[in-house]
Amino acid sequence: MSVALTDVDVESLADRLRAAGCVPSHARRLLRNYYDNSGAVDWQSIDVGKHVRSLFENAIAQRQSQLLTRHVSSDGTSKLLIQFAAGGAVESVLMPSYRPDRAAGCVSSQIGCAMGCDFCASTKNGLERNLTAGEIVEQFLHLRAEAAAMGRRLTSLVFMGMGEPMLNLPNVSAAIRRIASAEMGALGWRQITVSTVGIVPGIDALADTGLNVHLALSLHAPDDATRATLVPMNRRYPVAEIIKAAQRFQERIGRVPTIEYCLLAGVNDTDEHAEKLAALMQGFRAHVNLIPYNPIGVGISGRAYERPSTDRIARFTQILREAGVVTHARDTRGDDVNAACGQLRQAVLIP
Ligand code: SF4
Repeated sequence: MSVALTDVDVESLADRLRAAGCVPSHARRLLRNYYDNSGAVDWQSIDVGKHVRSLFENAIAQRQSQLLTRHVSSDGTSKLLIQFAAGGAVESVLMPSYRPDRAAGCVSSQIGCAMGCDFCASTKNGLERNLTAGEIVEQFLHLRAEAAAMGRRLTSLVFMGMGEPMLNLPNVSAAIRRIASAEMGALGWRQITVSTVGIVPGIDALADTGLNVHLALSLHAPDDATRATLVPMNRRYPVAEIIKAAQRFQERIGRVPTIEYCLLAGVNDTDEHAEKLAALMQGFRAHVNLIPYNPIGVGISGRAYERPSTDRIARFTQILREAGVVTHARDTRGDDVNAACGQLRQAVLIP
């Protein structure tokens, strides 16, 4: 019998212990120890009795994935390429916070991506497969270990890596339930953000799960004409519909959504775009997060994008703020380590 602890929650592990004639309440202790040690049970520090230990010490599998590559940028951002036992690899990123003891993690939900966003490296080779809940938890544990090695704690997690989380929602929500369960003490709901390119039924389904997490909507343009050139899914779910879906999510869950906006020079960064975005945000209590583009070479359309100048980013930010929109211009992190979504995997694994 072999048990991969990233694949189980407290209840299912308790069932296994019960079936093996062990005290089921040890499940909580075993899992907590495994999470606390970033993916390994420390049998010296855990009191689960001789019977459990004799049955499970050799049966419990440690992490089911391995770190293929780690690139650390000059700003401290760690980009990990993680290979799964079942095949395939994804990127996960750890970003040190400005507070000296904290770090934020970013995980992938799929291997590759079918969404075809033109500025994104993750989609260049299409979708390989959905990740299992256990594989998502594995990324979290790698990031937790990486943070601990830096003397930091992983205090937030975003689903903004490879893939569209709403198209793998059952596994994403199962992973969140494991990571953010009260028993694990790893993270709380409010420390987790799920991002989407605007899959309207997915946004509603995420609200249905009852997970009290944050939502980030990848908007990238305030009008359908511009957005459709960047995000093919806009033809199915146009701007007005995805904004309404984010508002519904806010009404139901009570958390302020983030609007992600990747600034591309000459494409979506003009004063007119800023003014349209400001108009779109009126009456909508959301925060706008401006992300200066990390170049990836040519996109699927064959077009190559560039990052706007610092002055342009400042002007775009100013227009939004003057219109009363809460706006943050995010630092780009890890530029020297292929920091844009999907770039490391592209560089290391795909010829
Ligand atoms: S930006 Fe996100 S949804 Fe769009 S192709 Fe990249 S990974 Fe997929």
